[in-house]
Amino acid sequence: MRSWSIHIGRLFGVEVRLHLTFLILPLFIFWTEYTVHPAVVGSRVLALVGIVLAGVSVHEIGHILVARRFGVTAKAIILLPLCGVTDSDESHPEVSQVRGAELWSREFRIAIFGPLMNLAFAAISAVTVFLAIPGIDLWQWPFFTSANLPRSLVWANIYLAGLNLLPAYPLDGGRILRANFARTFDSTAATRRAVSISHAIAMVLMVAGLFSNTWLTMIGVIIFAAAQLEERAVMFQSVLDNVRLEEVMLTDFATLSPADTLVDALDKAVHSLQDDFPVIRGSDMVGVISRQRILEALRMEGNGYVQSVMNKLFEVSLRQESLASAFRKLTSRNLSIIPVVEDQRLVGIVTLQNLMHSMSLLAESRKLKRAERNS
Ligand SMILES: [Zn+2]
Repeated sequence: MRSWSIHIGRLFGVEVRLHLTFLILPLFIFWTEYTVHPAVVGSRVLALVGIVLAGVSVHEIGHILVARRFGVTAKAIILLPLCGVTDSDESHPEVSQVRGAELWSREFRIAIFGPLMNLAFAAISAVTVFLAIPGIDLWQWPFFTSANLPRSLVWANIYLAGLNLLPAYPLDGGRILRANFARTFDSTAATRRAVSISHAIAMVLMVAGLFSNTWLTMIGVIIFAAAQLEERAVMFQSVLDNVRLEEVMLTDFATLSPADTLVDALDKAVHSLQDDFPVIRGSDMVGVISRQRILEALRMEGNGYVQSVMNKLFEVSLRQESLASAFRKLTSRNLSIIPVVEDQRLVGIVTLQNLMHSMSLLAESRKLKRAERNS
């Protein structure tokens, strides 16, 4: 989802990105306004877009501030045309291992504060508009129009609150629903259920919009696409959580000895596809070294021993550990290889390069097994 967005600034220390689909909004507003009154002014359409952008931002601030109280720090918020998506860092074990009732209460509070912020903002703007422009009629149809920007400011926020409360995942109402499912089902099944309901709601909106207000169709399309994207992200996370290292680790790999010279080491490296090597003394693992490091050392200091150049600081994992935990170790410490041990004995290695590769193979092999079982 990040890849289709651009950086536009920072809010409360959180990166704000605009999803490219947001650009549909000005075009859509211009078109709907044009069909009502052809003398529509471009700058007023842009002001309307600004009003929606402000509403979505206020909404996301609500989520960020409450999430922070639960220790969930947002890395970035991505603004979509009518809602936002928070890209949170849930890698902290205390945060990611929350389940059941605790998860439900956390998700509920984080979700509900987005719409609440919109309602608060709508109330404040209503009072301000009322005081600034005496005699303005906030109850006059249409509520959202380029012809009356102050009224649109108030109603845009009420609409945003209402829209986000729909039980259509990944909108806030849908998140609450999913957290509720997660009390009885595992996270993947809970997401699947929430996504099917979301797709059904999106379909109804799309069809209803064709016979009434085109905004409904547009909202339906956005919900449909967003649900699809979120489902994929959750599925990916579930693979990371459920695959054990023993399923993907390399078991056929080359090792080096600390007493090897760098020239010997390079010679072994030439005959292997590995970029990183565990260094073994007897049955003990004593360090790791990369092909790159061997070359650098040879170039800078000439021939020497692996012992003096190898990296002695490394992290090991157990074979039952999840892929998610290995990924965290690799990325948080900028490692390139993780030795997998059992009873202090080296039984495999995991590298970033091999993870990417094995993941796709594993997906294929699981698919084949499932097909076999079904036939
Ligand atoms: Zn929200």
